[in-house]
Formats: sequence, structure tokens, C-alpha cells
Amino acid sequence: MSGTAVFPAIVLGDRFARELPELAIAWRAERAPDPRLLVLNGPLAERLGLDPAWLRGPDGLALLTGAQLPEGARPVAQGYAGHQFGGYSPRLGDGRALLLGELADPDGRPVDLHLKGSGRTPFARGGDGLAAVGPMLREYVVSEAMHALGIPTTRSLAVVATGARVQRETELPGAVLARVAASHLRVGSFQYARATDDLDLLRRLADHAIDRHHPAAAAAEHPYRALYAAVVDAQARLIAQWMLVGFVHGVMNTDNMTISGESIDFGPCAFLDAFDPATVFSSIDEGGRYAYGNQPAVGQWNLARLAEALLPLLADDEQDAVAVATELLGGYAPAYRAVYAAGLRRKFGLPDGLPDGLEDAVAGTLIDQALTQMEQSRVDFTGFFRDLAAAARGDAEPARSRFLDLAAFDDWLARWRALDPDPDAMGRVNPVYIPRNHLVEQALAAAVDGDLDPLHHLLAAVTDPYRARPGFERYADPAPEDFGDYRTFCGT
Ligand code: AMP
Ligand code: MG
Repeated sequence: MSGTAVFPAIVLGDRFARELPELAIAWRAERAPDPRLLVLNGPLAERLGLDPAWLRGPDGLALLTGAQLPEGARPVAQGYAGHQFGGYSPRLGDGRALLLGELADPDGRPVDLHLKGSGRTPFARGGDGLAAVGPMLREYVVSEAMHALGIPTTRSLAVVATGARVQRETELPGAVLARVAASHLRVGSFQYARATDDLDLLRRLADHAIDRHHPAAAAAEHPYRALYAAVVDAQARLIAQWMLVGFVHGVMNTDNMTISGESIDFGPCAFLDAFDPATVFSSIDEGGRYAYGNQPAVGQWNLARLAEALLPLLADDEQDAVAVATELLGGYAPAYRAVYAAGLRRKFGLPDGLPDGLEDAVAGTLIDQALTQMEQSRVDFTGFFRDLAAAARGDAEPARSRFLDLAAFDDWLARWRALDPDPDAMGRVNPVYIPRNHLVEQALAAAVDGDLDPLHHLLAAVTDPYRARPGFERYADPAPEDFGDYRTFCGT
């Protein structure tokens, strides 16, 4: 498959295509008329054994746009189904994306190298197969910020402007995102396999998922039950971590929920500024199905759809299988609560165990009261915890000034300080810099106009999020008043 490009010892595996041909359609990327690199993730490239200098050159760009691939590569569009806003679509799949193949991470584990915006595929339906520069850079920024926050996520390797024009509400410059993931298996992959009524395919898919993501399940008495339990646990943890940083995914359809437990598909996503569980950013989420505070429940709903797809593997008898699935899904809420409660406690600088088993009575109630006050005063979720650490060091004014009911907050503060919160520990878990919506919008708009400096500054801030640095003050500030009610659009 190589043309004129020289590929220095890059091997792109074809394991997915080989093991699951029913879920893979061999396909090639559309040619980018005038490829131009916008951003490259040098450290990630090196982790994957790719030379950043080479990737920046013409042969590297040929790889990053799918124009030419190493010998033996078998790029495919992946098939999957999905519930979108609750409605089932039996055939979604990579309409504008391609799995180029598998690379190895430094531990030898396979990771997918995948393109988004690489042209129409047989799954494109009415879509044009393309992506615009802005949304691909948004995915780059948010996924790398999530990674820096220690949250499992797909990574972004590069965004290349294609030179093509993309018609959305207006005409926009096109781009291809190269991303890296533990895999692109989704709840929707299992729904797709299940809908074929081919039990052997479903089993092969489950075996593939166990081997790649949850290998301990292979040794369990019931490997497929253990697989399901592991996905339930991984997603409970993931969504708890989203909640702890104020992340709103925006499109938690079952085709956007991974089996690995990584965050994926950063479309109309955004981070909370004011703490309010009803926050919705996506312009298409009119009912607030994917509001910040609904995410834990939606995760559970999606996992119930995964259980339905897996039923034939959970027990021979369907009623038994439903009982098994129900019991395993019952692990979701406690797993979520454990990670969320421990995470909140760390955000508030409180130790894991208080004397006399007072934890829940003291810390739990205190934290609930703080969240209520934060919601009432529309307190900036990220900024508050940094100011609270300052309050633990003796400077309470920045935190106090965020609240409308000062008497209530002062009362709360006195009771919190009595628990001896640890400001240094707070500094390690509460980020200074998140990809704030107004900064993301500014950086993307500048990039579309040819100025990449704001994007690089933003990336410098959010990829090192816990260390306050001079020169980055405005990256820690909330949006200016005139930024208004933020909406992200699904013209991705
Ligand atoms: P997403 O909302 O990005 O998760 O995509 C949902 C589904 O729509 C997936 O099957 C995508 O491949 C498909 N899709 C989204 N945008 C396009 C596009 N511009 N062209 C073709 N397919 C698309
Ligand atoms: Mg998607």
C-alpha cells in the first residue's frame, strides 16, 4: 500500500479488521488537497515510537491524513449502532472516520491510530464525511486537558488542515484529527453485533474486548459476566471523574461510550463555570438529557443497553441472563459513589478517614452544604477550590467573595477549618487551568484565522493544570460577563 512515502519502521496492525471482519469495511481516506499541520503532540508521538520531526514532514502528513500508509496497513471504517438521545439507530458506524490500524504503546499494549474527518465512508448516510478545523482542535484541546487531569481518555496526536472547504452553517476550513485510543470499541459496537443475531460474532467481539481491555475477566469463572462488570466499574469511575472536574460531555449516546472506560468523542462538550447540576452546553440537547447532573444516571442507562446486547453471553436462559445483568449493573451506583465521594473529599482537603467514624456525618454533610451554597451563589466550580485552599492557608477573602450569603459561608468555613483541611493536598487535585469555554472559543477562532499562538498558550496551560504560573493568570479567570450563556454547536 505504500506509494512514494518512506515509512521508518512503522507497523500498523490489523487485528481488529482480522478478528472482527463483520465490523470492518476496508476503506481509504479522501485525499487532502493541501495538507498543513496545525498541531502535533510530540510527547505522544514519541510514546508511540513515531518521530515528531518525521511526522511534520510530507511523509508524516501523508500518514496523518491517511493519504499513504505503511506496507501491510488495512484501514477500515468500523460499524456500530447506538442510542442517540434515547432513540436507537441500528447502523451508525464511522461515517467520516477510519481506523488506520494498531500501534503499540510503551508497555506493548495495542492502541488504535484513527482519523476523524477523512472523507465519506459507506456509513456516511447523509453526511459529507468531513470535519472542520475548529471542532477538531476542540477535541485536541479537551482530550489533552482530560489526560493531564488524570482522566482516562482518547488522546490527540495531530490536527492537519486539509485545504478542503466544509459546508456547515457557513463555509469552514476542513481538518483531519489523528487520535489514539485504547480501542474504539463502544457500547454501540456490541449493539451492532447483537443485532446481527450472530452469536459467534458477539462472542468474538467480547473476547477481543476482554483481551484488550479487561484481561482479568478471562480468568474469571464467567468471563463475559466479568467483562460486563469491568465495563460497569470502568464507566462508573470515569463518570465520577468527569463530575469532579465539572466536565459535561454533551452527547453521551451509546455510540460515544467506550468499553475501555476512556472518554471519547469530544463534540459539544464543555466544563462548568458556575456550579449548577442543570447545566447543558449542547445546542441540540434541548431536553437536558445530558446535563451535568444527569451524567451518572445516563451512564447507568447506557450500561443497561450494553447488558441487553450481551444477554446471550451472560447465561443460557434469558431470564437468568436478565437477573445476572441486573445484579451486575447494581454495582454501578456504589462504584460511582465511592469514587465521587472520595474525590470530593480530596477536593475539600479532607483526609480519607476522620476519627470516631464521623466521616459521613461530618465531612459528607459539610460537603453537601458547600455544594448547595455554591449552587445558590453560582460559584465558579474550578476557581472555588483553589481559593478554598488559600482559605485553609489563612486567606479566606477570595473564597468568601464568591458567595452571596456571607453569614452562611462564614459559618460553613469555620466548621470546615475545624477539620484541619490540607491545602497542599488540595493543590494536587484541584486544577488551576481547565479549558474554559471562552478561551477555547478564542483559541479556535484565532486558529481558523491563521494565528496558532492562542491555541498553543491554551494547550500550555491545560496540559500542566495544577501548577499556577505567571503569565497564565487569565487562563484561571472565569468568562467575562459579556460571554453570556455558552452553547456549543453540534456542527462538528
Ligand atoms: P458523533 O456525533 O460525532 O458521535 O457522530 C455520530 C454518527 O454520525 C457517527 O456515525 C458519525 O460517523 C456520523 N457523522 C457525524 N458527522 C458526520 C459527517 N460529517 N459525515 C458523515 N458521518 C458523520
Ligand atoms: Mg461518536
